[in-house]
Amino acid sequence: MKKIILSMLLLVTILLTGCAEKEQVVNLYTSRHYDADQELLDQFTEETGITVNVVKDEGSTLITRMEAEGEDTLADLFITSDAANLEVAKSSGLLQSIENEVLNENIPNNLRDDEGYWFGLTMRARVIVYSLDRVSPDELSTYEDLVNDKWVGKILIRSASNIYNQSLLSSFVATKGYEEAKEWASVIKNNMARTPEGNDRAQAIAVAAGIGDIAIMNTYYIGKMIYSDDAEQTSAVEKVGVFFPNQDNGGTHVNISGIGLTKHAKNKDNAIKLMEYLTEEDAQSIYASANYEYPVNPNVEPSELLKSWGEFETQDINLSLLGEFNKDAVAIFEEVNWDN
Ligand code: FE
Repeated sequence: MKKIILSMLLLVTILLTGCAEKEQVVNLYTSRHYDADQELLDQFTEETGITVNVVKDEGSTLITRMEAEGEDTLADLFITSDAANLEVAKSSGLLQSIENEVLNENIPNNLRDDEGYWFGLTMRARVIVYSLDRVSPDELSTYEDLVNDKWVGKILIRSASNIYNQSLLSSFVATKGYEEAKEWASVIKNNMARTPEGNDRAQAIAVAAGIGDIAIMNTYYIGKMIYSDDAEQTSAVEKVGVFFPNQDNGGTHVNISGIGLTKHAKNKDNAIKLMEYLTEEDAQSIYASANYEYPVNPNVEPSELLKSWGEFETQDINLSLLGEFNKDAVAIFEEVNWDN
């Protein structure tokens, strides 16, 4: 009898293990580093029973990793917080194209790849942040005007190695050409308050500390600073205002975080389910309220904070150009010695 019970227990164990092996999964490589993302993935798992395994790293590092892994890659999905890296992943043959009604309906044309290789999830603007004490918004107008002599020694902006800056400059190469973009970068370099250091938030903190008067940074970091647990951030952000440049002249530079299905995805159905999920109204509201980003789904309103800054004109260029001109932007930053 004991033997029968033991063998039955063994059988049950084997069956359970078998089931566990058939656990539904999707593997995500992502460069996004925000709490809101984990919240969304947990919610997806709860609703669908699909476990999401996450590998987090810099966008360019993940691209190199997928290239090295080739068809053995575990990645089913690639998320990165910049259109340039999505375009690099596409042109390196790491993504596959999909035609999907839900995605096409939830995401406007201009925020996804024409050929279905990547899809925007959130939008952010790269704006001018200014000292409320020392600068009046009347003095601000365009990115181009930052070369004005009145800004000598006053501008704060992070390193050239940062993809957000590379994409900003790529957008200028795309719209004005290489030489004009280079001229802009070299004068900005001369107008800097200090050698680039720190992340976006560090620039606003430096404005508040009087190191410079204006900074270039992404909108959602203002939200993150306002609701931060860190007193240095909350007190700094009270001393700055947000300005959307180029409202009568080309629009404010925007970028996206986006997602692509990898070429060698082994869990394609689950991956597409997650892609759809992240563009639906619920998920889009979480991106908007918890990470202060602009939703891509037009049925979802931005958060109250973002609405309080008002509507703005966005730079009207195809976002794939940010990837196309990335090499030029990197070369220009080198040539003008941006980081030294
Ligand atoms: Fe960021």
